[in-house]
Amino acid sequence: MIPPSRDPLDVQRTGTHFQIIIVPVNTAFLERAIELAVENARAGGGPFGAVIVRDGKILAEGVNMVISTNDPTAHAEVTAIRNASRVLGAFHMPGCEIYSSCEPCPMCLGAIYWAHLDRVYFGATQREASQSEFDDSHIYEQIALPPESRLIPMIHVASGARALAPFRVWMERENRIRY
Ligand SMILES: [Zn+2]
Repeated sequence: MIPPSRDPLDVQRTGTHFQIIIVPVNTAFLERAIELAVENARAGGGPFGAVIVRDGKILAEGVNMVISTNDPTAHAEVTAIRNASRVLGAFHMPGCEIYSSCEPCPMCLGAIYWAHLDRVYFGATQREASQSEFDDSHIYEQIALPPESRLIPMIHVASGARALAPFRVWMERENRIRY
């Protein structure tokens, strides 16, 4: 019998056994992310907010700015990551966690991995968001398809020496900054 968990993230499967890890979830941070989302929606923006937390304190916040900036990538999580990177003066954020009012879309999930955030907490699920005109399930489905089968055509044009030229320059740089 598996003991009930406070949070699905607490349960990690290792081999054939379940390991219960108690993660202290600070609901105040998620509450702040939801508050930001509500305020943003009231002001005519997308109904999403996110906060990035380090050492129990809010390091940066972000709201969806797609409409206000005409930037389709300005999701709350991306905005929060951009703001946190300015505060930290760094592009990696180990020791930081993100609280999002909604389950991250594939783009934000990618950004979260690139930022090396430690953990993601979220409010509304992807399925719940889809009931309010925000459905990103098709993007998840597209990722799983071979490139040539996707709705937006992806055409492999070049390989070999020409396509690898940028990587050659990169690999030849002795003091390249890895990210
Ligand atoms: Zn997103």
